[in-house]
Amino acid sequence: MIKEDFAFSYEVYDSIEELTAEDASLLSEARKVTKNAYAPYSHFRVGVTALLENGEIVKGTNQENASFPIGLCAERVMLAAAASMFPDVPIKTIAISYDNENGESTHPISPCGICRQSLLEYETKLKHPIRIILGGLQGKVYIIERAGMLLPLSFTANELNT
Ligand SMILES: [Zn+2]
Repeated sequence: MIKEDFAFSYEVYDSIEELTAEDASLLSEARKVTKNAYAPYSHFRVGVTALLENGEIVKGTNQENASFPIGLCAERVMLAAAASMFPDVPIKTIAISYDNENGESTHPISPCGICRQSLLEYETKLKHPIRIILGGLQGKVYIIERAGMLLPLSFTANELNT
């Protein structure tokens, strides 16, 4: 038996002011778009902005439903929009923010498991890493080099061809 390790590094910034102008703009837009979320049940509004390689910005917000399981996360709403509008254009960077009507928004949140899998599929499909900026409406900001780092030992299409 041998033990394997998995580790990854990410950048931590004290606030949006420390980011480059491009990254700060993307996070700022993610913060603003949280208002477009449809979250009457959780009151947890998530906003995502994606900067594509062609310079276009695509946005997404979470969309809930009275039939809870069919609700959609902001990340997957954004991915569906990007894939529909610009199917062959890689996503360069995404920013994720949130507005919690029941609490604070002072620390970064990370994509849920389903969205990690969806982001990885998009990276694989277009053979391009997706940088991720995570930040609340205030506080520290994390930057992750590529989405796949959030999903070690992931299941991919490669497994279907064995
Ligand atoms: Zn999700």
